[in-house]
Amino acid sequence: MVGCAAAASVYAGASTALQAIGGGIHGVRGSNAALCSCSSSSASSEAWSGLRVANGGLAREGVASWGKQGRFRVQGSRNGRRGGVRAALAGEKRAPAEPVGGVENLVIIGSGPAGYTAAIYAARANLKPVVFEGYQVGGVRGGQLMTTTEVENFPGFPEGISGPELMDRMRKQAERWGAELRTEDVEFVDVTNRPFTVRSTDSEVKCHSIIIATGATARRLGLPREHEFWSRGISACAICDGASPIFRGQELAVVGGGDTATEEALYLTKYAGHVHLLVRREKLRASKAMQDRVLNNPNVTVHFNTETVDVESDDKGQMVGLKLRDAMTCEERSLRVRGLFYGIGHSPNSELLRGQVELDEASYVVVEPGTTDTTVEGVYAAGDLQDYEWRQAITAAGSGCMAALSVERYLAANDLLVEFHQPAQEEVKKKELTKEDIDMKFDISMTKHKGQYALRKLYHESPRVISVLYTSPTCGPCRTLKPILNKVIDEYSNDVHFVEIDIEEDPEIAEAGGIMGTPCVQFFKNKEQIKSISGVKMKKEYREVIEAHK
Ligand SMILES: Cc1cc2nc3c(=O)[nH]c(=O)nc-3n(C[C@H](O)[C@H](O)[C@H](O)COP(=O)(O)OP(=O)(O)OC[C@H]3O[C@@H](n4cnc5c(N)ncnc54)[C@H](O)[C@@H]3O)c2cc1C
Repeated sequence: MVGCAAAASVYAGASTALQAIGGGIHGVRGSNAALCSCSSSSASSEAWSGLRVANGGLAREGVASWGKQGRFRVQGSRNGRRGGVRAALAGEKRAPAEPVGGVENLVIIGSGPAGYTAAIYAARANLKPVVFEGYQVGGVRGGQLMTTTEVENFPGFPEGISGPELMDRMRKQAERWGAELRTEDVEFVDVTNRPFTVRSTDSEVKCHSIIIATGATARRLGLPREHEFWSRGISACAICDGASPIFRGQELAVVGGGDTATEEALYLTKYAGHVHLLVRREKLRASKAMQDRVLNNPNVTVHFNTETVDVESDDKGQMVGLKLRDAMTCEERSLRVRGLFYGIGHSPNSELLRGQVELDEASYVVVEPGTTDTTVEGVYAAGDLQDYEWRQAITAAGSGCMAALSVERYLAANDLLVEFHQPAQEEVKKKELTKEDIDMKFDISMTKHKGQYALRKLYHESPRVISVLYTSPTCGPCRTLKPILNKVIDEYSNDVHFVEIDIEEDPEIAEAGGIMGTPCVQFFKNKEQIKSISGVKMKKEYREVIEAHK
């Protein structure tokens, strides 16, 4: 536990406490000499600088016309247009840091592969996109891949990569290039008036363009034990999960009677011992061609008039079968299968745009074929939200890229583009990682950290505001505070470093910091303690400290 006497003495004054933390940290691990030689690099005080890009150069290179649906089009070589933008840039003076008239270039809604890829491209093009990552309503931040274990088919990862890890990397890449990430749900969008309006749970933004990448949600049956077996036997994506070792050579079931289900059943025959297609009605809804293929495949058994009631498991909790019900007789029976795939369709998360852009009968956003253009100029749709056919991470990412490049063209062609240049950030330049850094998994270019090693390094090396959250495993309010603080840190991820200290794991640090109880958040800058906030407070209290010192 924290020693009160020691705590009282170090808590006497902010800088004293700080020295104590520095000293405490020194004393805990490694040699002081090595630590003391670490010097903090100076923070760049230069803010973002914005520059409206004149369209003069573009007009010469692009041919403007109206597209099929009355939308404005610019034709011509992309390189030519880019050349025009860069040329205009070269001759102009830098403008103030704020968006012109408080209107952002671009808002991206969604943080799956489509949203983050759009963010990476737009940020690389100096558009400083505002990204609403989502929080609850349309799934978690990071999108559908956050719910899967291994992604084996995303290029560049020959060993496979976990879904959350892949999304974390995309997020960091977007952040690194200056995308402004907000972990908030968008509740309202108006694209009928210009500039457009996007309102989230916490903020409202005016913008010239929008990329909507809110994904689609696989429909579920709502079986009583569905949650228990999700990703442990139940999947909504045969292409993604069919080749997994747990399914190889096994008897598997697919639910549904349309094209998706029949396609999934046929796909699974590559890996499964046998596939059972469970169809609620007395016939298939799939196209005739698909029906023929499935009905003539000896590796597929079609069970008509069959409802899926629940999952059955063995005494080790492994899925071993399904309880089925005959829709005509209500008779129940078991089917021995090791996996269940849902082929009952997806619901696109398109409600925000309903009545404003064209949706198809299944509520997918309609885009012009081969583009991400919606029926409203300046509004683009990427990923599963507009793709009822492929629905893969790579195709979503590809369309996110297309959308961002389209936005760049649209803004430039309409003389709306304001370029923002990031200040050179000394600190995030990759430093040589020491062996100890590698062992301790410490990388200063990341915003969030855990444990005393990270705090010790950041205390000496980070020019940012350092926010230290002291928690303990049994502390209920700590659990309440974590998501609140996390949101604030996400808003300022280029301005703060965050470290979580579990006072049971690192009691010396807690003692040196004068921690009397948890949760407690201390803020440091340039080896000075600037504020200590105990308990759970409103987001604005934490924001104010960061705002004042960033
Ligand atoms: C279990 C599972 C496993 C999969 N495995 C693979 C695989 O191995 N390989 C593969 O290529 N594909 C796989 N897929 C498919 C892949 O995940 C999707 O095709 C891809 O994630 C679609 O990307 P997206 O960006 O369009 O949307 P999503 O990933 O669905 O992301 C949508 C985003 O929008 C956000 N959002 C929604 N509404 C709002 C709102 N109102 N405000 C703010 N944000 C909002 C959500 O929070 C989310 O971040 C899998 C899918 C599932 C379900």
